[in-house]
Amino acid sequence: EFDLAGRRVWVAGHRGMAGSAIVRRLATEDCEVLTVGREEVDLRDPEPLDAWMARRRPDVVFMAAGTVGGILANDSRPAEFIRDNVMIQGNVIHAAWRHGVAKMLLLGSSCIYPKLAVQPISEEALLTGPLEPTNQWYAVAKIAGVTMAQAYRAQYGCDFITAMPTNLYGPGDNFNLDAAHVLPALIRRTHEAKVTGAAALTVWGSGAPQREFLHVDDLADAAVHLIKVHGTAEPVNIGTGTDLSIRDLAELIRGIVGFEGELRFDETKPDGTPRKLLDVGRLTRLGWTARIGLADGVARTYRWFLENLDRLR
Ligand code: GDP
Repeated sequence: EFDLAGRRVWVAGHRGMAGSAIVRRLATEDCEVLTVGREEVDLRDPEPLDAWMARRRPDVVFMAAGTVGGILANDSRPAEFIRDNVMIQGNVIHAAWRHGVAKMLLLGSSCIYPKLAVQPISEEALLTGPLEPTNQWYAVAKIAGVTMAQAYRAQYGCDFITAMPTNLYGPGDNFNLDAAHVLPALIRRTHEAKVTGAAALTVWGSGAPQREFLHVDDLADAAVHLIKVHGTAEPVNIGTGTDLSIRDLAELIRGIVGFEGELRFDETKPDGTPRKLLDVGRLTRLGWTARIGLADGVARTYRWFLENLDRLR
């Protein structure tokens, strides 16, 4: 087992939803947490990162930095999604090797699997078929990051591991409708429909796609667990093992928010991939399972949204 005690641990992307949850989770470990803001080190640029690494000398890296967003953001800013993520991962992985980082966890994404992968999706499905077009830019960048981590292990013996989280949600999420993923977007739009007394709420797409959702505090706990117990090139899926349709998600959110109008479906908006449920067998065998149920997690996230209405992203 890899011991975090006494280690200098850098959380890259600490202002994002995943990174901030990992920082919160590390508060209960006996380690020193390092962070650096974008205004000091833009991770797309190798030089300031190299200087910062030389000065702060992290032993462990949780790589949760990147340009992320929902189906619309991916589709409308493809150049930024591929460029930013290729650069950030390339720079962080290379710097971690150059500065002798003892262990790194790189977060990938469930969207890197083929659009029509057999469900539930095992880690072996990687690179076995064509990607979902709406987020192919982000997916190709993440595949490059995962493959690069494996290459540095193969050539230099770096203990770099990779994990593929399913769709994440929770405190710190992006509720800005131009960039949001479906769960925070529907929380916000359902809340606004309730407040304005709208008769109906329009959900994008057919409502038929199936998605799996993991609370970000569960993700953070899984990430810390994997840093301790996992030490091979094999990626590890991080999910709950259950999914639901967008229609059922919208109904769940409607109940929690207390919106009494009806749901309508706008089929001119893209559905994206039909289903992406992760096979969590490897993670289960490594000794971890998700704890936060979806209804509880959504209720907690709605409370967080209400408490932070005036400072949302
Ligand atoms: P994906 O998981 O990469 O496809 O990204 P999203 O989380 O953005 O979208 C998941 C599904 O939810 C897609 O079928 C969307 O069309 C659907 N959806 C329904 N309403 C919304 C919404 O208000 N915002 C977003 N982002 N997606 C929505």
